Amino acid sequence: MKALWSWYFKPNLLFRILVGLVLGAIFGLIFGEKILWVKPFGDVFIRLLKMIVMPVIIASLVVGAASIEPARLGRVGVKIIVLYLITSAFAVAIGLIFGNLFHVGSGVDLAKISHGVVKKATAPSLTAILINIIPKNPFTAIVKGQVLPVIFFSIIFGIGIAFLKDSEDERLKSSGEVVFRFFDGAAEIIYKIVRWILEYAPIGVFALIAVVFAKEGAKAVGPLALVVLVVYLALITHVIVTYGGLLAINRIPPFKFFNKAKEASLTAFVTRSSSGTLPVTMKVAEENLGVSKGVYSFTLPLGATINMDGTAIYQGVCALFIATAIGMHLSLAQQITVIITAVLASIGTAGVPGAGAIMLLMVLSSIGLNLSANSPVSLAYAMILGVDALLDMGRTSVNVTGDLVCTTVVAKSENEVDFNVLES
Ligand code: ASP
Repeated sequence: MKALWSWYFKPNLLFRILVGLVLGAIFGLIFGEKILWVKPFGDVFIRLLKMIVMPVIIASLVVGAASIEPARLGRVGVKIIVLYLITSAFAVAIGLIFGNLFHVGSGVDLAKISHGVVKKATAPSLTAILINIIPKNPFTAIVKGQVLPVIFFSIIFGIGIAFLKDSEDERLKSSGEVVFRFFDGAAEIIYKIVRWILEYAPIGVFALIAVVFAKEGAKAVGPLALVVLVVYLALITHVIVTYGGLLAINRIPPFKFFNKAKEASLTAFVTRSSSGTLPVTMKVAEENLGVSKGVYSFTLPLGATINMDGTAIYQGVCALFIATAIGMHLSLAQQITVIITAVLASIGTAGVPGAGAIMLLMVLSSIGLNLSANSPVSLAYAMILGVDALLDMGRTSVNVTGDLVCTTVVAKSENEVDFNVLES
């Protein structure tokens, strides 16, 4: 028993999930329909993920928004937030363009697995989508799992906490701090639960993938490889076009910049955590890019929490992959919804490994794709999860590079960059 325990828990999680994926595919191919009894193990995994998604959204968005210091919301604050948001919107758009160009998800055809009953979500108009972001009743929105309204309310609630914490009035200040600590603690607890759920991921992924391959055969390999390729292509394009363009417009030499920033980009690639990379990112900003501490000490921690362009790209491509895989066509309004939700989801994503995959569930539900046990959506999602670690490396690297780009651009506009350092 003990041997089995350490056999399962010893190797690193990433490796185990990958083994789960590969073994699931092999078993599915070899045993075909005979392996379908493993389905419940996959269902357990899906239920665990669904269980945690609302709490994750609420806790991380409230804490994220509450961490903004109103006092620093001056010119630099406004500039950096606007830049972070615009680059993230560009990111998802690039992800969607690439996803559409390469038809990610076609050829998987999971729709027939659930006997063809894919609920076709009717596309609401754009105005309706925008107005519906404001919840009539935040509690109903939570209970019904309506994602955008919950995001909206959580952010406003978090900003409210931020103002209270900053208040001159002692009573308000201390109540603000208490509420903040409550949510901060809740967020940490929820991340712990997420880590526990991920310990089960290898088994869950094995079962789900075995089912996909039992039903689909080797046909599923190509589309999965394609989605990885497309995510990376979109990531690279975003770095070259959006970041390169932004730097060039601001007369910061792009090649020199990326070369100087690479220590942070590479650390993010291997650690798969923006938060974990933060000390390196700060060191790079100061020592390699010549950004003044007054700017980066505020913008980089904020960026590590709210600015996740790589994650936004990944969510755009994967939402498209999953929709296509289950035979659903995303209308323009739905694609715009994906852009809005993915930007918000990337803001709410914690800078820790794998967090983006959980927030992807939120993007999916905004376009009417809900995970339920054995549904085609959960199978398509499991396919993504199987390669998530690979995608996480690239997206985290872009997340961190984006923080540095926006920080340097804002610092330059404030004359807070030492060009002797940057150009040396
Ligand atoms: N790992 C990413 C980060 O830390 C978040 C994600 O999973 O997308 O930036």
